[in-house]
Amino acid sequence: MATKKISLKEKLHLKQQEGSALLATNFYNYETLRGIMEAAQETKQPVILQLTKSSIDYMGLQVAVNMAGAALAHYQVEGWLHLDHSDSYELVEACLAAGFDSVMIDASEKPFEENIAISGKVVKLAAKYNANVEAELGYIAKLGQSTETVGFTDPEEARIFVEQTGVDALAVAIGSAHGFYKKEPLLDIERLKEIHAITGAALVLHGGSGIPAASLREAIENGICKINLATEIKNIFILTLHTCFESKEEIDLRKLFPPAITAVKNLVVDKLNTVSRYELKSI
Ligand SMILES: [Zn+2]
Repeated sequence: MATKKISLKEKLHLKQQEGSALLATNFYNYETLRGIMEAAQETKQPVILQLTKSSIDYMGLQVAVNMAGAALAHYQVEGWLHLDHSDSYELVEACLAAGFDSVMIDASEKPFEENIAISGKVVKLAAKYNANVEAELGYIAKLGQSTETVGFTDPEEARIFVEQTGVDALAVAIGSAHGFYKKEPLLDIERLKEIHAITGAALVLHGGSGIPAASLREAIENGICKINLATEIKNIFILTLHTCFESKEEIDLRKLFPPAITAVKNLVVDKLNTVSRYELKSI
């Protein structure tokens, strides 16, 4: 990896100022990682590589860290490694010690005061590693469509939360959801504008899968500078594999996997073009 790279915190603020965003992609194995890397290399865009606890359990912490580092170096991509949705202080600690650039502590389902306490504690720990900290405030639906504004991030609470915890980045609940949407999501852009106006935090949109490009760009123009993409990566990878496995004769996995890698690459190229500088779209 490059000897001295810009911190993720600085990079996110630069992106926010210029009205663009970083794409944060979850990877699950060598093949999804490779698809992401090929996309970032081709578009010459930086990328955040994310791991959840399940992916860390699947690959092993040190293996996953080394894979990410080796891939970024090999493909000469500017990137950072981020822990996605951890509800455990111990996991945050293990990931920081293993070399993560950034961590998310998700205590959003806990009462406000508890969320402040645990997120603040993570900020103190991460400072020793000069790592970026993301927290979540409000409720981002885990499955299906979020239909009610109950659980949406309250702008004034966001201001207090960022002030008291010192988090660098804040995942906001403004109408996106994790998983598949049953109908096109409607983002609460007015709420986003209010949050952006009164907090200095880098704002993060979870549930980026399935949000139309125009909505993503509107969110980016109003303060979102990190967009998470996970579901669509898993989906396109597995759907493509299904078609590859129709031919029962082939057992060489090095021939079976490449179409799925290419499908991931094409998806990520498209998303990177959407979230990077708006002007690039018109070239
Ligand atoms: Zn998420």
